[in-house]
Amino acid sequence: MTSFPQFDQNSPAIVENTMMPLFGVELQQLEEIIKSFTLESYRPRQIWHALYKKRVSTLEEITSLPLSVRNRLTAAGYSIGLPKIAQTFKSSDGTERYLIACGDGETVETVWMPNGDDGEMGDGSDADSEEAAAQSATLSETLPYRRATICVSSQVGCAVNCHFCLTAKLGVRRNLTAGEIAGQVVAVLNRHQARIGRDRINLVFMGMGEPFLNYDNFMAAVHLLVEGVGIPESRMTVSTSGILPGIERFAMEKLRPKLALSLNAPNDTIREAMMPITRKWKIADLLAAMRAIPLRPRERVTFEYVLLGGVNDRREDARELATLLRGSDLQAKVNLIVWNPGPEIPYRMPTPEDVAAFQKQLIASGVPAFLRRPRGRDIYAACGQLKRTLE
Ligand code: SF4
Repeated sequence: MTSFPQFDQNSPAIVENTMMPLFGVELQQLEEIIKSFTLESYRPRQIWHALYKKRVSTLEEITSLPLSVRNRLTAAGYSIGLPKIAQTFKSSDGTERYLIACGDGETVETVWMPNGDDGEMGDGSDADSEEAAAQSATLSETLPYRRATICVSSQVGCAVNCHFCLTAKLGVRRNLTAGEIAGQVVAVLNRHQARIGRDRINLVFMGMGEPFLNYDNFMAAVHLLVEGVGIPESRMTVSTSGILPGIERFAMEKLRPKLALSLNAPNDTIREAMMPITRKWKIADLLAAMRAIPLRPRERVTFEYVLLGGVNDRREDARELATLLRGSDLQAKVNLIVWNPGPEIPYRMPTPEDVAAFQKQLIASGVPAFLRRPRGRDIYAACGQLKRTLE
């Protein structure tokens, strides 16, 4: 078995920060904070712009604010409070996994995948993908144009306990704040000096945690990332393990990412053996809730399907899955993910032949199915491998 070093709480890179973070607050909250400083009415918007558009890391960088004001904010205990990249692990395929330190000494993982993992491309669900590809070809001649996907965490650990997932081994430690969720993205964008508008950045909320069990903070982070940082919500995908009340709320949101359901089985019996949460919410109820989401033109809902050797990867599973999805009345597509092995997880990888046959069966049955490229396996950055591991 692969040796798998554990997170070390005494890592010197991770220190507690007792300052009050400004990153993560909305404009209205900022106006409240600034009130007590009796400043000009345009100052809150100026700070908001610096936080999210300019993505500053320190108050000193907000040079549009007089030094005296910056000093007063610092004296009152405020800092920018962006989460910090405490450690970086680089994969041979260009993927980078980060251990990101929150202010209280907790850590989460975030992953940068240059060129994505094909989960968000080539499927017709990304409304502007062809246009962007053409634009990319033109821009690449003049600019260092880049396309990347950032995988973002929503909780420290996770309570859902999917049996194939390493994060589940941590249990849940706490929810991340909106600032800590959006801050992961900004910390990584800053590291790569990415420019929104020039670089094509996709976000997948598929890191540690179940976003719909931290619903309010997750959605607040989405608003900061769309309205502040400027990443369109059509380039964001949130994955849920199937939290029914969360899907029902999500269906009513005006501004929302695309939705992916981590389905992983063609029926409740197989799913329950892999994902105990199925006992609480059945597949049929989840599909019914998903039907209430008004989809954008060309948008599809994604069904993620982690293939486990001998568990859910047989030809008849593919046939049953196709019947389920075709009967669901949803514009669906399937992202197939070859399970990534981890220590103490009692599953085996599917064979390449079984993976190919599964995909072929789905496509032959009229269900679009795409194979996600595994990214960063050598640094434990691939799907289901995030567990705050150190090299
Ligand atoms: S797969 Fe997602 S929802 Fe399930 S335990 Fe892992 S992090 Fe939680």
